[in-house]
Amino acid sequence: MQQTLSIIKPDAVKKGVIGKIIDRFESNGLRIAAAKKLQLSQAEAGKFYEVHKERPFYGELVEFMTSGPVVVMVLEGENAVAKNRDLMGATDPKKAEKGTIRADFAESIDANAVHGSDSLENAAIEIAFFFAKKEIC
Ligand code: GDP
Repeated sequence: MQQTLSIIKPDAVKKGVIGKIIDRFESNGLRIAAAKKLQLSQAEAGKFYEVHKERPFYGELVEFMTSGPVVVMVLEGENAVAKNRDLMGATDPKKAEKGTIRADFAESIDANAVHGSDSLENAAIEIAFFFAKKEIC
């Protein structure tokens, strides 16, 4: 059993596809162990994406992630980190495999519908960023 962090990004929240995205997780053996909708501040988004600070798109990424509310979730299941990444598809929706969340719901490499932790180690850090232990069931 693993836990991983998922974020439904502002573009997907605005489109009204929260339920459709959650269905992808639940239909593929990932349980929602925690969930909340929130508006990230610039400081919070900047800290969350600190690993990308030196990349040219960092400013755009922070701006996009604060452009509207997001839904943050802890997904739990067997092999949850890799399973979530598979369900998400490639970072650039144009390169994402058919049937993945990004291929079906995302428009561009920045507005790409979902975030998912890329390793078990980062999953633990990212989950602790958003959730207290007692909020995870
Ligand atoms: P992920 O793990 O698939 O989300 O991809 P990365 O860790 O490489 O990048 C983090 C996020 O930064 C992506 O999900 C995109 O929202 C954004 N991003 C990545 N590459 C680009 C880019 O070239 N331009 C812009 N504007 N955003 C990007």
